Amino acid sequence: MGAYSQPFSRRAFVAGSSSFAALHSVTNMLPLRPLVAALQNDSRLSQTVVADKGFASVRKVGNGLYATISDSSKGLQTMCNGGFLAGKDSALLIEGFVSPAGAAFQMDAFRSVSQVPVKSAFDTHYHFDHSTGNSFYGANNIPVWAHAAVARRIVDTYGPMQGAEKSAVLAPLEKRVGESKSDLQKKHAQSDVTMLDHVYTLVNGNILSLPNRPIDPVKLPMTIDLGGLTATIENFPGHSGTDLIVRVPDQHVVYTGDLLFSGSYPYCFDEQATVSGWRATLRTFSSWDKDTLFIPGHGQICGQDGVTALSNIFDDLAAQAEKMHKAGLPADIAADQYAVPDSLKKYPVPVWGFTVGAAIKKIYAEQQFN
Ligand SMILES: [Zn+2]
Repeated sequence: MGAYSQPFSRRAFVAGSSSFAALHSVTNMLPLRPLVAALQNDSRLSQTVVADKGFASVRKVGNGLYATISDSSKGLQTMCNGGFLAGKDSALLIEGFVSPAGAAFQMDAFRSVSQVPVKSAFDTHYHFDHSTGNSFYGANNIPVWAHAAVARRIVDTYGPMQGAEKSAVLAPLEKRVGESKSDLQKKHAQSDVTMLDHVYTLVNGNILSLPNRPIDPVKLPMTIDLGGLTATIENFPGHSGTDLIVRVPDQHVVYTGDLLFSGSYPYCFDEQATVSGWRATLRTFSSWDKDTLFIPGHGQICGQDGVTALSNIFDDLAAQAEKMHKAGLPADIAADQYAVPDSLKKYPVPVWGFTVGAAIKKIYAEQQFN
């Protein structure tokens, strides 16, 4: 146990373990895949890890660059991926994670390799699994940077869940279960309820803490000099309307937040998610150096192959949406009728309504068929 890690309180532990079981049942969480063979020979990637607690491990991925990769099948302290950039003068810590324990784990890993002061922590977007651990940074006087809309979106989205009756929070999705017209629709709707139940539990098990350094996207890209290590913060559309990435152009390493899901279907449920914007973002990612190393928001570290895979998933979603649209199916029916083709069967669909269902509805709404 490191200097910043504290044992879980009993309440947090109980809340965490019950939602852990719920999440497990709904998302078919698989153990994290090992690095693909192509990356095992990449000289930037250390084969040994700096820290490993099961729920996450930290690996060196470049000069002063580290990736924190979560394995949610082993615990929900972090849930999303992150990492840190340690220059000669200062450091940037990426993600607040889902709990203060997750942020503390990464801080301990950082302190095991560097003693430079922390310039700031950074939330790639507002979603709970990237931000509900922010209070760790507050308690340690570390400023938190994020897209200027993140603070408001955290308050608007998760504020009302705190102290609310769970049944009231779940009611709109429960209603859809009751109104289901087929077993398939009912199954999908039920998994959405279980997911929201899980979000409710995690949000209520933590103290919301807001970024205190809003970054105006109009002023991006922004260059940060950490001392012999230069990174840029850039803004791209797609996943949440608040998505920022951290890129180290010299070393071809990119921390994408949830603009990249590696090895699964992507979460498209956010009211400000845009499939057309997201596909454009992926085209930009694919235009970068062929040896670019991507630290995705979820899943294993990948190269350009990971960007191609997610693009293929969106292509298929758009192609099937177009067929169903032409056949006269309304969006809410089409959302349940999408069929994962054999070529994409290796990519799990974590929670139908939050991933595939939401993507089909967005494609209809945006008229962004192939
Ligand atoms: Zn997200």
